[in-house]
Amino acid sequence: MAAWAGLGYYARARNLLKCARAIVTDHSGIFPNDHAILLKLPGIGPYTAAAVSSIAFDQPYTVLDGNVERVMSRLYRVETPLPAAKPELTELAAALTPKQRPGDYAQAVMDLGATICTPKSPACGICPWMTYCDGRKAGDHADFPKKTPKAPKPTRHGIAYIGRRADGAWLMERRPDKGLLGGMLGWPGAEWGDIAKEAAPVKADWQVLPGEVRHTFTHFHLILHLRYADLPQDCPGLFITKHKFSASDLPTVMRKAFTMAHPHLPH
Ligand code: SF4
Repeated sequence: MAAWAGLGYYARARNLLKCARAIVTDHSGIFPNDHAILLKLPGIGPYTAAAVSSIAFDQPYTVLDGNVERVMSRLYRVETPLPAAKPELTELAAALTPKQRPGDYAQAVMDLGATICTPKSPACGICPWMTYCDGRKAGDHADFPKKTPKAPKPTRHGIAYIGRRADGAWLMERRPDKGLLGGMLGWPGAEWGDIAKEAAPVKADWQVLPGEVRHTFTHFHLILHLRYADLPQDCPGLFITKHKFSASDLPTVMRKAFTMAHPHLPH
């Protein structure tokens, strides 16, 4: 997991590893080609199961990614906005999926969306579906897919406690496997919320450091305040020795906190 630090999508990384292990232990190392079994593997949901069944095993399953959604919504002028339109778009896409070479078909539609039926300026003149496309006939294809306006992202606040022992080891915490930054190392602190809660992990002379870390996750903005304390050698907690500690092994927000705090730490 340290090698994945900073890349985001930590749940996917953990599931990828779990899935590889499940294939080795439960399927003798052979990737299953049964759609129902695929759906039981860690990290494989309906989209991935359909993509693997279709593209890897040439089975007639319907793959609906953002590109395919756009193509279907324009072909049929689907008025329902996304994401509510997904079941309708899946049905339309399924009706077009052929029994022969469904894998090639799935990739062709995704490529059509990625290269011809592009979001801003679709090249209808070279599209193989130009004579069937309701959106093109009506001249309003660029208005599709319809989308539900996104709610603005909320801002959460938190405090990161950066503590160091006299031997240079850092006090850290491993985040729970489930949830944001799951399984990754980070600076201790209370759960992020509407206000920054003081929740020092151990009793110490925590100093307020200048500056605040700003970071944006998929669903919210985060403002993180920083505290620092020298900790006694017998302090309880998870310590990472100075030889093992590398800021680049931390998720981006935790690395940003360290980078901002570092110039203000006693040397
Ligand atoms: S004709 Fe134009 S709008 Fe319709 S599917 Fe093709 S590229 Fe998209």
